[in-house]
Amino acid sequence: MINRRKFIAATSLAGASVLSGSKVMAEFPGTPIKNSPIVISTWDFGIAANAAAWQVLKDKGRALDAVEKGVHVPEADPNNQSVGYGGLPDRDGRVTVDACIMDDFGNCGSVAALEHILHPISVARRVMEKTPHVMLVGAGALQFALDQGFKKENLLTPESEKAWKEWLKTAKYNPEINVENRLFSPAKLPGNQYNHDTIGMIALDAAGNLSGACTTSGMAYKMHGRVGDSPIIGAGLYIDNEVGGATSTGVGEEVIRNVGSFLVVELMRQGYSPEEACKEAVMRIIRKKPDTAKQIQVGFLALNKKGQYGGFAIQKGFSFAVCDQNDQKQLVKSPSYY
Ligand code: ASP
Repeated sequence: MINRRKFIAATSLAGASVLSGSKVMAEFPGTPIKNSPIVISTWDFGIAANAAAWQVLKDKGRALDAVEKGVHVPEADPNNQSVGYGGLPDRDGRVTVDACIMDDFGNCGSVAALEHILHPISVARRVMEKTPHVMLVGAGALQFALDQGFKKENLLTPESEKAWKEWLKTAKYNPEINVENRLFSPAKLPGNQYNHDTIGMIALDAAGNLSGACTTSGMAYKMHGRVGDSPIIGAGLYIDNEVGGATSTGVGEEVIRNVGSFLVVELMRQGYSPEEACKEAVMRIIRKKPDTAKQIQVGFLALNKKGQYGGFAIQKGFSFAVCDQNDQKQLVKSPSYY
């Protein structure tokens, strides 16, 4: 069975077109380069995040440090309205962030429904390194962050506040909208605003070890206190240094229901290629709720221990960024079910 799976993996890697700059290069599933680091992350904003991670990886730094540094970029970017500072708030106008991190030893840390902290991923790392726990939430997570020396800040930018006030006019909460295909009507969300998206990042360092990070402000206009998949180990992120790592983006409730990232890693353990494993995780969601799946987006992204990567999404429009010694700015259009 495993051999057959390996065969399928070797023959089914087509489907992801790689864009470097604006140019389509080739069908490229991920070429393992011996002892060469690689970092992958979700969406087009992953390119800038990967570049920061690469600074660590190229100097033989640890994957854990790379993913933390990498996701700092979208966390601090006020123009990114789905991660950290500048994120769209919940329905009460409060920006609440979720993040988790996992290393090559299986250590992990997480924060959820955290307010006022610019770099939730670094608080998650402190939870991992400085406490006996895995997850801190809400006021407790904020208290811990302040005790650790993080500064209390306002994460709501004037642009995101404006968008929220506009939204309040109808206050229609519609988490099913898939931003890539059917954006909120431009009248409601001016410009190119996202109602969701997360940065999930996985890196393999020069020593051959894996780590991952995942951070988001979650679904726009969610209920106050809602936590998605992103800070939940096994759902939004999972790393097993023997096998590979996976992360997710999209409607977190469906990812949680299927323990998505853990599933992807376990499928890779059985011999699935990263792309096949992501596809099977997507198919679980579709098979269980075919009508819901038509309306939502979920994308998975995976990297195995050999440096091979792949992604798969329910809907068209999911992209991911890849950075290795050959090219630091690859943008891959993920294959999708629809
Ligand atoms: N997965 C995130 C959440 O459910 C949102 C996203 O990635 O689109 O909070």
